[in-house]
Amino acid sequence: MDHKGRQKKLRTTLENSRIEALLVTHLSNIRYLCGFTGSAGALVVTPAKSVFFTDGRYTEQARAEVQGARVVIAHKSPLIAAGEWLAAHGKKLRLQAIGIEGDDLTVAERTRLVQSLGRGFRLRQAPPLVEKARVVKDEDEIRLLRAAVTLGASLFDYALKAIRPGVKETEVAAEMEYAARRAGAEGMSFETIIASGPRSALPHGRASQAAIPSQGFVVCDFGVILAGYCSDMTRTVCVGQPSDKARRMYQAVREAQQAAIEAVRPGAGVTEVDRAARESLHKDGLGRYFTHSTGHGVGLEIHEAPRLAADQTDVLCPGMVVTIEPGVYLAGIGGVRIEDMVVVTENGCTVLTPTGKELITI
Ligand code: ZN
Ligand code: ZN
Repeated sequence: MDHKGRQKKLRTTLENSRIEALLVTHLSNIRYLCGFTGSAGALVVTPAKSVFFTDGRYTEQARAEVQGARVVIAHKSPLIAAGEWLAAHGKKLRLQAIGIEGDDLTVAERTRLVQSLGRGFRLRQAPPLVEKARVVKDEDEIRLLRAAVTLGASLFDYALKAIRPGVKETEVAAEMEYAARRAGAEGMSFETIIASGPRSALPHGRASQAAIPSQGFVVCDFGVILAGYCSDMTRTVCVGQPSDKARRMYQAVREAQQAAIEAVRPGAGVTEVDRAARESLHKDGLGRYFTHSTGHGVGLEIHEAPRLAADQTDVLCPGMVVTIEPGVYLAGIGGVRIEDMVVVTENGCTVLTPTGKELITI
């Protein structure tokens, strides 16, 4: 769907949401709705029209990129310019309740916005209308996500070449990130996690100055941004020969991940997928060491809806792209995580991540 189509769809959801206009400030939502990729902007979507505000640094870029909205170059903060525009045109457009993105605006910005609007308008925290739309990816988005996943997965070879006892975790991350940029990535989708030895028990062990020990797991969790879309994958390798216990732990995580992948189908609740991974690990006596949720949506952002966790109510439907990433973490000893991205299809799911999952020893 093109950007105009996305805005049109948003307008239909505005009708039932107790707001008459949406002031979009979250950059990923702006990009999704009108194509602008810069770092400063505000998009006003009303039932009649859309107007995009940015500053002078983005004059050319906004004119080249923005679709479906009039571009206004502001000589002040785009947010305040948007507020003043609403103050000037809102009454004529019969706008009263303006939706704002509460997760994005700071308290200070909200105060300035209220001042710029003046009387006659109400600001309301908007329901996550754009986030909801973004949950289901269209064919173009799935193509872009596939390309990001393929590039991201190619970095694992660089990790395998770099991981040796005595090498710093940051050096491994550096090789992967350099290769990513060489291959055309716009950046990494998050700070590369290379967590070796006992650090592998840290679910978010960003690459540190620690030298890789001669024995133990190394968790590698990494992703790239390509054409705006993120990839995310984790593989865990073992330096030295794994003990029987370590092998069993790896196998348990692999089975839990497979069980969760098999639970992904349209109509399944996200809790069902989470439960499938958890029950599999419980059967192996490792359930209590799985300390985070099973996965999350990925798209223009590395973490987006839905979250695959026990406290969520979302139901999967075709076109959703999520990660499946159970892990087991034994404090002071080590951890294992395996993560793939999958797309929900009409009758199940397709795993996008092309990389094998046999335990690799180095
Ligand atoms: Zn990850
Ligand atoms: Zn993830």
